[in-house]
Amino acid sequence: MVCDMKRAAAVLSLLMLTSGVWAASDPKPEETEVWEPVPKLVRPGVTPAQAPADAIVLFDGKSSANWESVNGGEAKWTVANGALTVAPDTGDIRTKEHFGDVQLHLEWRTPVLPADKKGQDRGNSGVFLQELYEVQVLDSLENRTYSNGQAGAIYKQYIPLVNAAKPAGEWQTYDIVFIAPRFEKNGELRSPARLTVFHNGVLIQNNVELKGGTTYIGQPKYTAHGDAGIRLQDHGHLVSFRNIWVRKL
Ligand code: MG
Repeated sequence: MVCDMKRAAAVLSLLMLTSGVWAASDPKPEETEVWEPVPKLVRPGVTPAQAPADAIVLFDGKSSANWESVNGGEAKWTVANGALTVAPDTGDIRTKEHFGDVQLHLEWRTPVLPADKKGQDRGNSGVFLQELYEVQVLDSLENRTYSNGQAGAIYKQYIPLVNAAKPAGEWQTYDIVFIAPRFEKNGELRSPARLTVFHNGVLIQNNVELKGGTTYIGQPKYTAHGDAGIRLQDHGHLVSFRNIWVRKL
């Protein structure tokens, strides 16, 4: 009886597939969410980070002059109290200068929000290398979401090795080593992008090989490109940044 029912279900599945009932459906964002494993929580130490002498300072606490809006024109985010804060719905910002391989330092702070704000809707922003490869920014202390979308995730590609998050309202650091992808003259990928990330001084991504640009829906893939800006995401939340500097490698 059970066996017959299984067979009937299998036949039905086959019929639905061949009739195009499933094949016609669009990909969903949920299909690329990975919820296990949950990275172990590690309490970080103190992480000082003054710019070294050969760094290019991208934000010094006073001016957003090195940044522009991806929608055109100057960056419209708020500069106050030494921080650069998302002005919701003004759009992402990116550096005017373009970069290849870099060491990047930045500090970020997510806002303290009411408890009903959950998952991806809690202090969401992001740091995109070459505008395409996102290291997720999120309030990830006691805020369950898909593991490949929490703070320090290479969005929907790599879960952080551990969760080194500090509470919302506190400044946190990212130290990122990015090796840009290389492309052949015909546009084919020669070598993929690589990312190493320290979150609050703790190694959370160890030289991972990216599968392409990070994407909300569907599978990542590469499209040939050259050097590009570092982009910060306006996800509609009041996330702040400070002490942003980069070293070309
Ligand atoms: Mg994000």
